[in-house]
Parts: sequence; C-alpha cells; structure tokens
Amino acid sequence: METPEDIPLEELGRRVSAARAATEARGETFYQGASRVHLAAFPPRERWDDWVELSSRAWPAREERHYMLVPTTCFNCESACGLLAYVDRQTGQVRKFEGNPEHPGSRGRNCAKGPATINQVTDPDRILYPMKRSGPRGSGRWERVSWDEALDALAARIRAAITQNRRNEIMVHLGRPGEDGYTERVLASWGVDGHNSHTNVCSSGGRTGFQFWMGIDRPSPDHAHAKVIYLISAHLESGHYFNPHAQRITQARANGAKVIVLDTRLSNTATHADYWLSPQPGSEAAINLAVANHLIQTRGYDRDFVRRWWNWAEYLTQCHPDVPVTFEAFEEILAGLYADFTFGFAAAESGIDASVLAEVASVVAGAGSRFACHSWRSAAAGNLGGWQVSRTLFLISALLGAVATEGGTFPNAWNKFVPRPIHVPPHPGVWQELSWPLEYPLAQNEMSFLLPHFLKDGRGKLDTYFIRVYNPVWTNPDGLSWMEVLCDEDKVGCFVALTPTWSESAWFADYVLPMGHGSERHDTHSYEQYDGQWVGFRQPVLRAARTRLGEPVTDTRQVNPGEVWEENEFWTELSWRIDPDGSLGIRQYHESRAHPGSKLTVDEYYGWMFANSVPGLPERAAAEGLSPLEWMRRYGAFEITRGQGAQHEQEVPAAELADLHVSPAGRVYTSAGPAPSANIVPAGAPAPDEAGRRAAGVMVDGVVRRGFPTPSGRLEFWSSTLAAWGWPEHALPGYIRSHVHPSRLAADQVVLLSTFRLPTQIHTRSANAKWLDELAHTNPVWIHPADAARFGIGRTGDLVRVETEIGHFVAKAWITEGIRPGVIACSHHMGRWRLDAGPRGAGGMMATVGLRQGDDGWRMERRAPAGPYSSADPDSRRIWWNDTGVHQNLTFSVHPDPISGMHCWHQAVRVGPAAPGDRHGDIAVDTGRAHEVYRQWLRRARPAGQVSPDGTRRPRWLMRPLKPAAEAFVIPAAGPGT
Ligand code: SF4
Repeated sequence: METPEDIPLEELGRRVSAARAATEARGETFYQGASRVHLAAFPPRERWDDWVELSSRAWPAREERHYMLVPTTCFNCESACGLLAYVDRQTGQVRKFEGNPEHPGSRGRNCAKGPATINQVTDPDRILYPMKRSGPRGSGRWERVSWDEALDALAARIRAAITQNRRNEIMVHLGRPGEDGYTERVLASWGVDGHNSHTNVCSSGGRTGFQFWMGIDRPSPDHAHAKVIYLISAHLESGHYFNPHAQRITQARANGAKVIVLDTRLSNTATHADYWLSPQPGSEAAINLAVANHLIQTRGYDRDFVRRWWNWAEYLTQCHPDVPVTFEAFEEILAGLYADFTFGFAAAESGIDASVLAEVASVVAGAGSRFACHSWRSAAAGNLGGWQVSRTLFLISALLGAVATEGGTFPNAWNKFVPRPIHVPPHPGVWQELSWPLEYPLAQNEMSFLLPHFLKDGRGKLDTYFIRVYNPVWTNPDGLSWMEVLCDEDKVGCFVALTPTWSESAWFADYVLPMGHGSERHDTHSYEQYDGQWVGFRQPVLRAARTRLGEPVTDTRQVNPGEVWEENEFWTELSWRIDPDGSLGIRQYHESRAHPGSKLTVDEYYGWMFANSVPGLPERAAAEGLSPLEWMRRYGAFEITRGQGAQHEQEVPAAELADLHVSPAGRVYTSAGPAPSANIVPAGAPAPDEAGRRAAGVMVDGVVRRGFPTPSGRLEFWSSTLAAWGWPEHALPGYIRSHVHPSRLAADQVVLLSTFRLPTQIHTRSANAKWLDELAHTNPVWIHPADAARFGIGRTGDLVRVETEIGHFVAKAWITEGIRPGVIACSHHMGRWRLDAGPRGAGGMMATVGLRQGDDGWRMERRAPAGPYSSADPDSRRIWWNDTGVHQNLTFSVHPDPISGMHCWHQAVRVGPAAPGDRHGDIAVDTGRAHEVYRQWLRRARPAGQVSPDGTRRPRWLMRPLKPAAEAFVIPAAGPGT
C-alpha cells in the first residue's frame, strides 16, 4: 500500500493542488492538511449541515454516519479554542468533538483536552439534578430538590441581604470565569461588590509587572513572526493560551526563530528550546536584568523608541531634580542603574554559567523589534516579588522597541475584543473589604486566598456564597482552613456550588446546582493569541442543532442532560426572583428590550450583542442571508481585525480634542467626548485630571498620540503609582530576592516548585475526562539524583515525606536529572480526594480519604485508592491505575506578596524518606500554625490607611474586574487595617 512517505514531494504537491481545485470548484473551502497524509484536514463549512463519515465500528462494511457540525468553545483551559461538535443526525446526540477550522485563534487545532470534552458530557459521575444538603455540612447526605425550590430560597436570602443593607454578605467566587463580564454585570445589577476570583493564586504576579509598564496587564506576543522567543514558563505545553500560542511558536521555529526557555524543570517546552536555562527559582528577574544591562552597556537598545515612549522625563523630574531633563542625561543614569547586574552576578544568583547568559543576551540583542516574550504563572507566581519577573522581562522588550511590532509583544487589550452587552448596570456603591482589604491597595486582583483567615479574624461574614468553576478547598493553599470556615454556618450562612461535577468543596455546600460543560452553555470569548481581534461564541450545541432544524428551544435545560442548566439563564431567573416587581431596580437589567416586561433571553442577549457591538459581523452575516446570531451559531467565531499594529502611535483626531490640557509629563486631557464606562471593561482606564477632563493621549514630539493607558500615557519605566503608594524603592524594574532565596534556606531545606501544569490536565476541571485521566493521573516528586543520595532516597517510586512550614505530605519519588539540584518539583494537578461518606465524584481520579482532627492538627489518610468501578460507562471497569497522587496544596500556608497580592507558591521544605507508618497520599496540617504564618505575611503589607496619597483605598486607574463607584474608593474614617 502506498504511504505518503513513498510519494515524491512534487507529486504530493500536485495532488494537493488538484484536490484544492476540485474542492473550490464545488464552491467549498479547502483546508490544507496538517500532514502529508491528509489532503484536506477539516470538513468544509459548506457541508456542516450533513457531514458524512464511515462508521469505524462497522468496518469493513461501509456504513455511513451523518452529522450536523455545530461549533462551540472548549472550556478545558483559558485558551478558548474552537470545537466542532459532531451531532449525530440519527440519535440527536453529540458523538465527538474536533477542532473548528473557522476559529481564528486555534485554527482547527486542539490539545488533547479539547476532544476529551465528550468524556465530560458522558461522564457517569456528573451531577444531573439540583441537590440540597440533608445532614450536617460534609456529612455526604443530600436530597434532590427542584430548581424552583433552590431559586426561591436563594432569592429570598439575597433580597433580604440587599434590603437590609448587607450587600457585602453576598459573594460569587469564580475559578476560570469562562466568559467576558457576564457575572460582573449580574453583580453590578444587584449593587453588590461581590466578585471574587482565583487570579491571585494564578496570574496576578505576572500581570502586575506588565500593568505597571503599560497600564494593561497581559502581554500578547506575536510569536509567529518573531526572530527570538523568550519564555519564562512551560509555554509550549501548558502556558497561557498554549495551543494557539504553541502552534505559532512552532511556525516561527520552522522559519528559524530561536526559542529561549527559563524553566527550572526539563519540561516538554524546555526540550524544544534552543536555549534551556534552569535557574535557581526566584533568580529569573536577575537574569532578565543582566540581559537588559547588556543591551544598555552595548547601546544595543532602540534609542528613539526609548526617547519617545518611556516616561524618562517624569522619572528625572521626580527622582533626579538636579539633573537636566534631557534624554542624554537619562541615558547616563540608565547606564549606571543596572551596571551591577553583570552576567557574573546573574550567574551567582541563578546558578547558570555566565558565558551561557552572555550568549543568550547576544541572541536577544540580535532580535531587534522581533522579540516576543511571555511570562505568566511560573516564576511570577512562585516568588516573593515575582511580579518583577514580568516587569524586568518587559524591560527587555521596551529597550528593544519590540512593543506592538511585527514579531514583538503587544498589550493584550489591543488583541482582544470585549463586546458591549445589551444592559450596562452602574458601578456598585459599596466596597468589599473581604476581597479588597486595605492592606493590599495595589493588589492586582481580589485577595481571594486570604478569605478564610479574614473570616476567622471576624472581619465580616458571608450570607450567601457562590462558587462557580471553582474548588477552593482543593485549589488554594491551606485548603483545610477553607474547609473549616465552609463548615461554619456562622461564617458562611449559605454555600452554593454551581458545578457540573462533585468536588472537594462541593461536599460542604448547602446547594449543589448542576451546570453545563463547554458544549452546554453560552459565553463569549476573546483572547490575545496573535496580532488581531476575534470574538468566539460558546453555545449549547444541541440547542443550536435543534434551532437549525427549526425546533425552537427556549431554555437550555430542554436539551441538556437531566436538569443541567447554564449560568446565564440561571442568573437571569435568580435576578427576577430577587426583584419580582422591579422595585429594587434590579429587574430592569434582566428584562427584554424587544418585549418589555418579560425576561431577557439568551437569544436576545447575544443577538443584540452580535448585531450592535461586533464591527463587521452584521455585514458578514447578511452576505450569507443570516442574522449575526445565526451566523455565530453556525460558525462559532468571527475575526474582527487582523494587524492591529502600534495603536499607541495613532494620532488623536482634532475632533476628539477640546479644552486641551497637557500635564508637565506630556499627558493630554480633553473635555471632548464621553468618559468611558469601565465597570465591565477589563482594561484599565487612566484617571481624569483635576478638572474632570479625560485622558485622551500623550504629547510625543509635538503630536498628540493615543499612547498607553498609564497615568503618564507612556510606558512607565518609573512607576509614579508604586512611588506614591508606599513602595518607592520598587518603582523601577528591579530584583527582589525571593522568600526561597538560598540565603533564606536552612542547610537541610530545598525549594519545592509546585506551580506547574501537566499538558493533559487542568486543575479540577478535567478530572472527569477518562481519556485524560488515563494519560496523566499522578504527581511524583521530581528529585535530582544528588539530592536523592543526600537525603537517603533510594529509588524512583520510594515514598518520601515533604515537610512544609505547616505540615507534611507523603508522595512517591521520581529521581531525575531533569531538575536542578537543591530543588524538587511536584505538579499541583493531582491528589484529588473524596470523603468516604460522600458521592463518588470522579471515579478514576479520586482516592477515598478519612479526615480527623487531633491536638496536632488535621490528618488525612487514604482509605481506598481510585480504581475500577461499575457505572453506566463500561470503561469505568477498565481503570488500571490506582496512583492518583497527593494533594500537596493542603500543606502550604498562604504567602501574599505585599505589592501584587499574588500568593507566592514556592515552598522551603525538608525532604526525606517516609517515616514508618507513612502511606502514599498522607497529609498532616496544623491550621493554627497556618493562621500564624498568615499573620507574619500580613505584617509585610503597607496598608492604604498609611500610604494612600489621596485618602482612597486603591489607585483608581488600576484595573479591577468589577469597579465600584468613585465614592466607594474613599477610605472610611475608621476602617479596618487603617
Ligand atoms: S488549549 Fe486545549 S484545553 Fe485549552 S482551550 Fe484549547 S483545546 Fe481546550
């Protein structure tokens, strides 16, 4: 049989051309295959109504299967790749998911987790009906209730909290939000500052460094066109937007780009690097500064870009008042600022040879403006001062002028598009101190992981607490402190888990309400994955399929399994029940415009959005005789622009400039035009001037240009915000020694890296996908052979005990040279557990445990490992593994960075052979000690009451997912933490 390898390339090319011509002659789109095997990789969209495949099970008989292909968006990580659901036209059920070639970000490709969505849909352990607790919290006793009963009970509580002015007792805590602003809009409509997120245990450190530079908290590297790609993460396999980015990094590599990876582990990404640097954890900023210093000392930077776009003049004025405000004077100071960051210094900090660092620096210098970089969780999430990792990384981009250039790095807001919704409620007039405490005025996001400690300290209580796509007991550090407060009805009155699956947190809920997976609910998405803007649509695919067949669906529960719902319809229904007659002013934001007095439907909500706030979509849809909503239901994603370019360089039209005021630093203010409403807009907005004029641009060489949304309008090499809010010593990009710096470790301690993902799992969301569980189900501790010998650990597979500052865990060793000596590593994805009294949860991934509390704290012991079991899915009897790893996060205390608010994940630990009686997965935790550690870290903070320059809680220009009204920013006369 002829294989593609047997065919000469020219002949293959000829066949591809012929296939393309034949396909296009039929008026269909030809998708070039990803390999030489396939001439066309994807079904052309013209045939999505009736796509025919041969049944593999019927082979060798040629039995046709007819599918309707319906797009949706993957929800197994934040990349939001396009999926195509193959809806069997005979059974009306989804048979499989593959990539959507019409999606501009993912371009038809997915990682393993995308197609595994089918496992989640057919998961025999999923929750199908609303459940209410019928015994004490955590007893595992539940009764099925109706949606009406649950909604009425919750609406009554929330209505009472609102009318009794206890608005801060309502909180919705999100994991991966999976949507752009819907929940914020709901909370704003209730007048509640109740949005809480997971971001401070995830990406706040990475965001903070970018935010202080450009006023926008995420980078958008144009990997595909880069000459040099510099990654501080395992970005190819598990970084931010990793499939869309990985395919573009691969594209660049094929064109000769060099890839530099800083990763202490030999990750899959590191194996693909041209330069793999395995630094001592926490030294990454020192390496970045050595590279920057090389550019400065060799004059290898883009002088004109630095002169025009850095706020050097403001820096000189404020910090060097005796120096003339000239660029030459600044260059002289700049040359001295980083002179100590030699390759020798960085080598001493990082353990990487100075000659290697010098070689890497010369490669970076050769990139010019085609230098693409990314840093996200990883080092920025691991270390005290980790936010300086991304700030020093962007220093390299800013020196090279590789900002918003082809092959450079963009501010993410320019490569993202957030459509405006039909109703925009006003900013809430209250401030939630449990999420935004005065101690952390510059925190990038909510101080979510401190919530149990704040509740224990009596700073407040929660009447009604929702979690959505979030498992706080499992995800956060110090999860048993979470469990303690979630079991305490005086601290959390009613705990509601909106979830498709059982989890370590849902066990303790009062209501468990079943929500849909990625193919069972609505959302919109837009993420920075290349230099362009797109909007993607997640939708319940069976609803869309039925609609395409002319069978209207008015409620997503009509097509979902059991009584599984979606959040959007749930929030609308709940809001109506909170305010049935509209007297609270809430209902108006959940009411139809087309049919006043009736509920807003998801069709109207998204129909209005696509028709009114996505440029170009109505025209594109009309060209095919479709409404914008019909078009999105059919194709799933729309590209709005490509090639955004350097938006900061755009000249501001004269029509937008009236009553012009130019600050000494060159910031241009105007009273023309409307002030933007920012309560649901993720990008930060600079504050107006004292006369209330809005910031419109920045004066550059006599021309008013758009600039950046920073206070100065320029890239802020020196941050006036950090300087004014109590941290002048860190106002420049710099190096902060980590809490796990070698000088802070005892002789018998090592650093534990706990932040890395596995490519085929995502936190708790993917554990109910059997294919993924078979691929990855455990998390051994990586230990270098030299450390294994030092600590008396004999072989891979031996049990080790890892001691943290509040307890210990017992895991299996993996002895490998893929990790630095002096550092151990353990992925945080594993160690799922269930209480023996509770529901099964995720059968292939959860061990059954017992939890008991003694004088020395909590003990968790394995009662039974995961293993085969009987269910509606015959594959559950075929589970061959029982090692599902250890839940190490339980043994970590909280480490809030005093500036970014990021939890600093890395741990100083002792490691050795397991003690007699230790069993794999055992956990010991002293939550009393955890509370002491929380207090120690709290003392590092500089509260707004002491440092605020203007009596407010937080700089108003900083981003905040749900922004309260201006008056709520003012610190009350005697608030806590002042
Ligand atoms: S990268 Fe994988 S998990 Fe993430 S959205 Fe894409 S297909 Fe889904």
